[in-house]
Amino acid sequence: MDAGDTIVAMASAAQEGAARVVVRASGSGALRIAREMSDVGEVAGGSAVVAKVWPGVWRWVYAFVGPRSYTGEDSVELHVPGGHVGRMIVEEIVRRGLARPAEAGEFTARAYLNGRLDLTQAEGVAATISAAGERQARAARQLLSGELARRLSPVMEDLAALLALVEVGIDFSDEDVTFVAGEEVAERSGEAAGALDKLLAESVRFERLSAEPRIVLVGRPNAGKSTLVNALAGQARAVVSDVAGTTRDALSARVRLMRGAVVVVDVAGIAEGEEGVRGSGDEGSGGVTGVLTSVRHEGAPDGEEGLDAIERQMRERALREVAEADLVVLVRAVDDARAPVDLPRAPDLVITSKWDLDGNASGLALTVSALTGAGMDDLRTRLDEMAFGADVGGVLALNARHVAAVEAARAALGRVAESAALGPEVVALGLREALDALGDVLGRMSADDLLGRVFSQFCIGK
Ligand code: GDP
Repeated sequence: MDAGDTIVAMASAAQEGAARVVVRASGSGALRIAREMSDVGEVAGGSAVVAKVWPGVWRWVYAFVGPRSYTGEDSVELHVPGGHVGRMIVEEIVRRGLARPAEAGEFTARAYLNGRLDLTQAEGVAATISAAGERQARAARQLLSGELARRLSPVMEDLAALLALVEVGIDFSDEDVTFVAGEEVAERSGEAAGALDKLLAESVRFERLSAEPRIVLVGRPNAGKSTLVNALAGQARAVVSDVAGTTRDALSARVRLMRGAVVVVDVAGIAEGEEGVRGSGDEGSGGVTGVLTSVRHEGAPDGEEGLDAIERQMRERALREVAEADLVVLVRAVDDARAPVDLPRAPDLVITSKWDLDGNASGLALTVSALTGAGMDDLRTRLDEMAFGADVGGVLALNARHVAAVEAARAALGRVAESAALGPEVVALGLREALDALGDVLGRMSADDLLGRVFSQFCIGK
């Protein structure tokens, strides 16, 4: 028996212990699956019936006739109890040759190919599946709901209307009528460019969202940075020591905040230079320390050079971490009265550590004690806000493909503005380019589709 292009899979495969799973099939043979795997008899489109499903349980059977289904094809869903039964049913359907197992993303791919989803919505489905945190899931849901398409559509419609006017002007160039003035072209294409700029500025990159934000702690040796990392991570990760500078390398831990996970990195070596590693003689206040000192001793006779090299390496690495960080947090002990350390980049947040050493310190910006836990909840809340934004509701996340397309459209509109004097043909070319680039974002609308819509309202009778 030829299963044709009918595919089948469990739609909620990941939930092992789920009370109900959905076996979904799509394709020309889908309705036949409903008939053969249950006692529904003939099924009508859009129907939901309780029927006895192989191997003998009473369950809901949903049937959809294309194109009014998720995939746009004939589809059935068997809602059955538990993953175990679901898997058995899928295997039985395949064994009977009624369908072949679906490949990853195949239902969504069919939905896209059949025009049921635009490309951004299909990407939203993929992003939803792989979203790790609530913020990512929200951004994915926005894509899926067609938010990007909604934001782009008015821009595209206006550009298409403008292009139509310019093209009509070309067609009627022998006659003495002006359909659109040069200033209007400049103004309307400028507005479209502005709208695209705004879209780019207000959106975040999906890649950036998906990565866990990196928060780098900087400060003097002994400021309590590694103790903070441990306290945030909730388990002992860092080596903490009374000897200033014991934490000699970048140390990181994954920390779960309210809305997602971040990586907190404690880098040593940032403040080393100014602390005078080579010895102010004041070892206790931070500077030359255990590990480095022993390197110096072991490394003789070229210990000084070895020390220099290690110090340089550490500092370079620390600077790199700071440069690449999403957020830089300066940690300063409450009992440290020295001038602030010199940083290559302004910190996003300054916190005062070791609050317990000076109870009078309250009232300072953000004061914590990793030892007693005081202020730690505030710190978590603050980091969460800084890493994930005070309001995540409106975040529209674009992926690299969207950004490239919008930027291409933006560039084409820039050329339209410059080419106004070169004649309507050149202007039309630029507008068409911009529309095609934006059409690429949604993956199905071409400039011609849009023009067709605009011209159908035009009634020029030509
Ligand atoms: P780092 O060099 O900045 O990573 O500092 P550490 O985390 O290694 O801490 C240096 C010293 O300060 C250790 O002896 C810690 O026990 C101590 N320390 C860290 N946090 C606190 C705190 O909140 N209160 C007090 N009293 N001591 C702390």
